[in-house]
Amino acid sequence: MKTGLMRRLDQTGVVCAEGYLFEMERRGYLTAGEFVPEVALENPEALKSLHKDFQHAGSDVLVAFTYNGHREKMRIIGKEDLLESLNRAALQIANEVAVDVPEDYEPSLVAGNISNSNIWNPNDSRSQMEVRKMFSEMVEWAVDEGVDYFIGETFYFAEEAFTALEVIQKSKKPAVITIAPMGENVLRDQWDIIDTCKELEQRGADVVGMNCFRGPSTMMPYITKIRESVSGHVAALPIPYRTTDRQPTFFNLDDTCGCTVPSPHGRTFPTALDPLYCNRYEIKKFAEDAWSNNIRYLGVCCGAAPIHIREVAEVMGRTPLASRYSENMQNHFMYGTDKSLPAHITSYGDQA
Ligand SMILES: [Zn+2]
Repeated sequence: MKTGLMRRLDQTGVVCAEGYLFEMERRGYLTAGEFVPEVALENPEALKSLHKDFQHAGSDVLVAFTYNGHREKMRIIGKEDLLESLNRAALQIANEVAVDVPEDYEPSLVAGNISNSNIWNPNDSRSQMEVRKMFSEMVEWAVDEGVDYFIGETFYFAEEAFTALEVIQKSKKPAVITIAPMGENVLRDQWDIIDTCKELEQRGADVVGMNCFRGPSTMMPYITKIRESVSGHVAALPIPYRTTDRQPTFFNLDDTCGCTVPSPHGRTFPTALDPLYCNRYEIKKFAEDAWSNNIRYLGVCCGAAPIHIREVAEVMGRTPLASRYSENMQNHFMYGTDKSLPAHITSYGDQA
């Protein structure tokens, strides 16, 4: 029996790598714009390999890649008939990789995933019914394939997050619910960020917090307040991009880094954000700030690479397999201090 989510949170904290959508797109297995996770069916090996990379870097959790794998998205690309097989394939792949660990390592936790539907309309009960149905079928398939807990994430309508929680609660599995407010710094249905998290906890969410849309600098001020306002565990999974008070999310982030060829659609999001990337030390700082503040469910969302996950894991006191390759500049040919390095090269370092 593997240790469950809640016990791990109390004992060691939990590292949860996310950002499968962006990373699969960058690796050439997913179409930007549509952002449908067909990879589970078309290139299962590629998805397996990303799970493996995140696991190796220290993620305790493998999130079944069903983000956007819902009926509405599948309808848009004319593949509604593949919906169930896509969901089941993603769940099976996560389950398969979860147990593929060295003997003395615990199997990874596997999380089922439901998320922002992008059709939720606070003024239209029919759209809300649709969303509830979408969530219900996905949760059913995930229970059937076997998951350890559920993530309901990236909600920018509070009521949609409440609906996700209700649906997940029918499964009797732990629920991690994270919200993703847009740039107005309030949920789209006018719920305050902190109040939404308090309400989610009141309604029985096991972990509440925020994921996606915001980099560490525009997420952490809210996370700190959420920590003060709820009694249970808090989750923080920012994007690794340098959002600012003026541009709090990555949807409208300007490239101020000397871009010479802007994206044809006129925004950096989602395909030209690269120069706005946080470096690994910024992610380390985020993890230190959160961890020292008793935020015990930590990860990185869209844009995450295994190196970021390793930073988070190491801050939490872990030594993942990838720590075998953690930086060692002592032996660098130019910056190094090792005596065997030729002096005519090391002394040249600051002119190179
Ligand atoms: Zn994300």
